[in-house]
Amino acid sequence: MDSPLDWAALAAGLHPDGRAFIGGRRVGAADGGVFDCISPIDGRKVGEIARGRAADIEAAVSGARAAFEDGRWAWRPPRERKQTLQRLADLMRANGDELAALETLDMGKPVAMSRAVDVNAAANCIRWYAEAIDKVYDEIAPTPRTALALITREPMGVVGAIVPWNYPMLMSCWKIAPALASGNSMVLKPSEKASLTALRLAELALEAGIPEDVFNVVPGYGHEAGQALALHKEVDCIGFTGSTRTGRAIMQYAGQSNLKRVHAELGGKSPFIVLADADLDAAARTCAGSIFFNQGESCNAPSRAIVERSVLAAFSERVAALAQNYQPGDPWAKGTAMGAIVDRTQLNTVLGYIAAGVDDGARLAAGGTQALEQSGGFYVTPTVFTGVTPEMKIAREEIFGPVLSVLAADGAAHAVAIANASRYGLAASIWSRDIDRALTVARALRAGTVHVNSYDDDDITVPFGGYKESGNGRDKSLHAFEKYTELKTTWIRLPGGVAG
Ligand code: NDP
Repeated sequence: MDSPLDWAALAAGLHPDGRAFIGGRRVGAADGGVFDCISPIDGRKVGEIARGRAADIEAAVSGARAAFEDGRWAWRPPRERKQTLQRLADLMRANGDELAALETLDMGKPVAMSRAVDVNAAANCIRWYAEAIDKVYDEIAPTPRTALALITREPMGVVGAIVPWNYPMLMSCWKIAPALASGNSMVLKPSEKASLTALRLAELALEAGIPEDVFNVVPGYGHEAGQALALHKEVDCIGFTGSTRTGRAIMQYAGQSNLKRVHAELGGKSPFIVLADADLDAAARTCAGSIFFNQGESCNAPSRAIVERSVLAAFSERVAALAQNYQPGDPWAKGTAMGAIVDRTQLNTVLGYIAAGVDDGARLAAGGTQALEQSGGFYVTPTVFTGVTPEMKIAREEIFGPVLSVLAADGAAHAVAIANASRYGLAASIWSRDIDRALTVARALRAGTVHVNSYDDDDITVPFGGYKESGNGRDKSLHAFEKYTELKTTWIRLPGGVAG
């Protein structure tokens, strides 16, 4: 039998290369700028990352534009793009341990999850779009017989992708896979808090056969590299995942520049409605599993449990007891359920929200404290607030940490009203044994994904994205091709008579 992998030793042997990837090779920032890469696990510096700015974005975008115009990737037959992307997926799997270790080192999630969830889902995403691209057909419109109208999809051109730090590799792949499969060139700007896996992916993409200049990664700060990318006039579209605040800024940059398409996957404050006839054990188990997964740093985390008053106490007791199973621990150790918060800033944000909850009069039923301070890293105990009311800050704002707010509702209609009284609309859940009631509530919820007696169901075949200020685009599924392609109509005049 294989001996278990010593993840900490593997990580200690890594010497991550933080240089940008432009034109098929590793390069430092044009002005030589760098910033430190700090691991949230112990607060130690693990390397330096190139601080890309406008000049680096310019180099990457002009290379990507030239690559698009000469057709070195865009004009390859779909089956060839498929084979190349399949090789990339294979390489990701072959290098899965290294990718998982880099992800954990950079952003603190338990390595078992990086390996089992992030690496597998990211490689699967690349493979799925590779498989799909030679199976999608264009259309012919039902016009009069005097003409033929072809409706075809063409790659956009140069796609800019800007992604966050919570699932750095997976969020990158949700953009890369459909954009590259459909023939675009790309410039990816990862989060400055977690750039390592995106940079490694670029090397693997070149090894897989994606030509130079087609896929570039420029790390750097959002207000420098990110802004330069979103303002660039040779960028045809931005696939963005991140906060609503940044999404708003990127739409403004598009307006100020070339009206590039902006597809935005933004924040959430997702409701988890529990009616009196629900299976309370299953509901509490699922709610705890989802809010504490990934340290609560999930856009769709069910951060508001809205519970019918008659079962409020029973649900709250259960979920507070279950929180104990998610105490933070060493992300390299087997069995750790929750890892480190991505950095000190985010740690302070989460602790600030916890303090606001206490100040506003909510009751701490579990957690509420920093943990493992002696490690030098950034950890928070799994936290459950009860007695939360809709106007409290912790009920309204996205915390992006392991903090659940439990609110009371007087019946299904009241629960829906509380759930929908949010500027967000990413995901939601309804728990009831009465399927008619559950579906009535599901229809009334204003959210891009609604779960009935479940949460976090996930498959690459289904679209993911939000209503309202949770965004305007959909990642995943065949619908994602719509984001990275233009629709063209070509009219062909025909004689219209009988062939003679
Ligand atoms: P941010 O909005 O702070 O950052 C996201 C990305 O945008 C980062 O790469 C960031 O760079 C960059 N950025 C920041 N400012 C600018 C700017 N002015 N111009 C261009 N780019 C900029 O989000 P977080 O990284 O903190 O991620 C958490 C957010 O992401 C949460 O709101 C979460 O809900 C959301 N999210 C949404 C998902 C969805 O599918 N709907 C999925 C996952 C997360 P830098 O890091 O260098 O500042």
